[in-house]
Formats: sequence, structure tokens, C-alpha cells
Amino acid sequence: MSEDLFKKITSHAKEYGFIYPSSEIYDGLSAVYDYGPNGVLLKNNIKQYWWKAMVQLHENIVGIDAAIFMHPTVWKASGHTDAFNDPLIDNKDSKKRYRADQLVEEHLAKIEAKIDKEIRKARKRFGDAFDEAKFRAEHPRVQKYIAQIDEISRKLNDALARNDLPALKALIDELEIADPVSGTRNWTDVKQFNLMFQTQLGAVAGSAQHLYLRPETAQGIFVNFNNVLKTARVKIPFGIAQIGKAFRNEIIARQFIFRMREFEQMEMQFFVRPGTEMQWYETWKEKRMHWHRSLGFAADYYRFKDHEQLAHYANAATDIEFRFPFGFKELEGIHSRTDFDLRRHEEFSGRKMRYFDPETRENYIPYVIETSIGLDRMFLAVLSAAYTEEKLDDGSERTVLRIPAVLAPVQVAVLPLVKKDGLPEKAREIFDRLKWDYQVQYDEKDAIGRRYRRQDAIGTPYALTVDHQTLDDGTVTLRDRDSMHQERIPAAEIPHILQQRFNLKAWLG
Ligand code: ATP
Repeated sequence: MSEDLFKKITSHAKEYGFIYPSSEIYDGLSAVYDYGPNGVLLKNNIKQYWWKAMVQLHENIVGIDAAIFMHPTVWKASGHTDAFNDPLIDNKDSKKRYRADQLVEEHLAKIEAKIDKEIRKARKRFGDAFDEAKFRAEHPRVQKYIAQIDEISRKLNDALARNDLPALKALIDELEIADPVSGTRNWTDVKQFNLMFQTQLGAVAGSAQHLYLRPETAQGIFVNFNNVLKTARVKIPFGIAQIGKAFRNEIIARQFIFRMREFEQMEMQFFVRPGTEMQWYETWKEKRMHWHRSLGFAADYYRFKDHEQLAHYANAATDIEFRFPFGFKELEGIHSRTDFDLRRHEEFSGRKMRYFDPETRENYIPYVIETSIGLDRMFLAVLSAAYTEEKLDDGSERTVLRIPAVLAPVQVAVLPLVKKDGLPEKAREIFDRLKWDYQVQYDEKDAIGRRYRRQDAIGTPYALTVDHQTLDDGTVTLRDRDSMHQERIPAAEIPHILQQRFNLKAWLG
């Protein structure tokens, strides 16, 4: 996995109409991106796949779509006005800005890399007899590195937990961390930087009310708790799901759509009886991992990473991390949020945010398990796991996106072998029949081999080719993107075959 692969994915995404830099004719806008014709199809399919898994398949989960603007007191109650900060630091020579905690984390990653190097060397030397666990536990240099990592992590977590900015700066000085651009250690002090974008409501100067673009979708769910409870006939345990835009003025955003300033979240808040939250936390960890794995990428793309340092509202938290081309990073967060948000909204609004259980006659503020995944990050995960360059038997090469069929932007391509002899008309007939149920692309330009490559490059899982035999016996060839295997099937069976391949139950069941 390399930077190189990441660059290739980024340029492929642009070349094939998945993702463009925003306002590109004006040289783009940092960390803001637009989705192109294939991108919007893939993105919508990911949304659908999530929505169906969460809402349609759970009787006790309903959806909402709350506004991006919310009353400013929401963000006081949620803690964002005071605490949604990142520690930033500037290098006085390069004038570049960094997240202070990430500088330390990058330093830690370098020590990790040294350990990996020792292990690789030893494995080469000892071959099959190599025992990694024993080596880690006994090798003096590795032991020294591990001790360093522990010590630095402890200091970092401690400084973050206490919000101690001078301690964070002292740690950067102590580790002699240099700016990767200027190479100097000429740093400013560490400052807190609030990540919320501010705007204002109302046109009259002076009377304008300051608003924020929401930094997460979750609060739209919490403030609607009573509305949903009254109108949706739900009983605890139940969930509220939402897909929507969120905005964060990220200090550094240099990883394509991994970290954006405007992005989309798919969140679900599951309301449970206090005391049962750990059991539901485990259930949702399992369900969400099942959803990811249902797409068919290898198991070693995913891992759980429990949080050592819990947010002020959480009593348990884990991330589902994905192996991106630049390493394992958070894709989805699963948090047990206690009753923090509802309780705070009760305090700030003066309205009761409670559930009355008609059976036990208890009245309580529910506890919440949250699952929160970035749609754009999921898009990047799919794209990077799908991107494959292959050498074929005949010596040629192809680039293929092995996007899970259920998410593919174009599901079927319909291709007449040649642009004459009545083949285009026959192919159009098939196209017209299928377009009601599938995203189909008709293509008659260029040699058939080039058309297959074009479909491979955008991840179309199936291609139907109409040739002269079709006119004689009504059969077509069905080509599979991944195996490139072709089989002849009666045209009349196409709807049935496609129905089986795209069947949601077969994917998610
Ligand atoms: P990170 O540590 O990467 O900044 P976070 O822990 O702040 O993420 P959460 O607040 O838990 O993220 O948000 C839930 C999900 O929203 C994340 O798992 C991620 O997929 C997505 N997300 C968060 N920030 C961004 C961003 N700037 N761009 C794209 N997706 C994001």
C-alpha cells in the first residue's frame, strides 16, 4: 500500500467522473469536492445500502431529515460551542499549520515503523522459526521503542484529557519534532481552534443571530426525540436514523475525501433503557461490522479500535477502522453516549426529554448507542479496496474497479457487437426493458474490447453483448467484470438472472 496507489485512485476518480475538486476552474477549494456522474450514482447506492440495512430492515428504526441550521443553543447544550476544538500549532518558518496532537501521533508512527523494520529484518534472518511475540518481548531495541511509545502516548493522552496546551507544546519540544516542510523546530504556542463554521441569520445589521453549520447530524436526532416518540409509535428500544451534511473547519485536510470541510454522515441513535446499554453496544458493534463485511472485501481491511480516551459523553467507544492506502484509519464510530445529550437538552430547553414505559410505569431519560459513519469516507473505502490493476494472460493490462455489484454506479452495460446488421436495434430493446429497474448504460462506440475496458474502469459488474447469434436464437452473452468469463444466456432470462445478482437479501441477509 502506498502513496503512489493513493495518487492513482485520486486521478482515476477524476478521470472517470467520480470526484472533482470543487470550483476547479478557480483552482479548487481546499478539502471540498464535487461528485461527478458516476460518483453520485455510487454515493447514492451506498446511502441506499445503509438506509435499507438500518431503516427498512429494522421495524424499530425510523428515519428523519433535519435541517442543517439549528438553534444556536443546541450547540451550547451539546458542548460543541465550548469544546469542539482541535489544538493547532504553526511553524513560524514555513507558516504551515498543524494539529499538535497529530504531530505527536506521526512521531509515534515513525517509532512503530522502526519496530516493523526490526521485525522484518529478523523474520528474514530466522525464516520459519521466527516467533514475533517472543521477539517483541525480548529484543532490547524493540523493547526500548515500545517503552518510548508507551511513555509518549501517556503524556499525549494526559495533556489532551486535561486540555493542557502548554504540556502539548512541551511534548513537541521534548520530542524535537520538526516541521516536515521547513525542517525547523520554530513553533508557536498551541492554541485551541473551534471547528464549527459560523454564519448568521437575518438581514438587519446588529439584530443578526449567529448560527453554526451543524458539525454533526446527531443533534438533529436528539432535538426531535419527543416529536418522533409522539408521531412514530415507537417503543424503547428504538432508533432514529439520518443521512445528511455536516461541516467542520478542519485544520488540515490533505487526504482527498478522507477529511473534508463539507461532508455527509450516516448516523443512527439507538435509544435504550439505562443499564442495558452495554449489551446494545455489543449488538451494534456486531451488526455494523456485518454490514461492512457483507460487501465482500477481505476481512483484513477492517479492525475495531477501542478508544482509550473517552469523550466526555461516552462510557464506551470504538472505531471500525479501514485499511486505506495510507494505513488503518477510522471509518465509523460506535459510541455509548449515555443520557448525556438528552439530559443536556432537557436542562437547556426546559422540556422533558423522557420516555414513559407503560409496562413497568417507569419514567426515564433513555441511554443512547450511536453508530456514525462518514458517507464520503465509505466512498473512499469502497474505491480504494475496489481499485485493481491487472496483467492479463495476453500480456495486456486493465484497470478494474471491483466495486460490489450492489453498489456499482452502472449495474449493466448493453453492447451491440457491431454498429450495424440490426444489432443496435436489438440491444436498444434490451436496454429499454432493463432501464426501469437498473442503471443501464448503452454503448456502441469503439471495438468491443475497448468498451469492456471502459466498463471495467467504472466498475460495471455485468455486460450484455448482442451479436449475430442473438438475431438467430435470442441469446446474448453475459460478461462478468471480475472473472471476465462470458456465458450465453437466453435474453428472456436476463431479468431473472439480474434479480438474483442484485437481490438485497443475498447481500445483507
Ligand atoms: P476523526 O478522528 O477522523 O476526525 P471523528 O472521530 O472526529 O473523526 P466523528 O465525530 O466520530 O469523527 O464522526 C463520525 C464519522 O464521520 C467518522 O467516523 C468519519 O467517517 C466521518 N467524518 C468525521 N469528520 C470527517 C471529515 N472531516 N470528512 C469526512 N468524514 C468525516
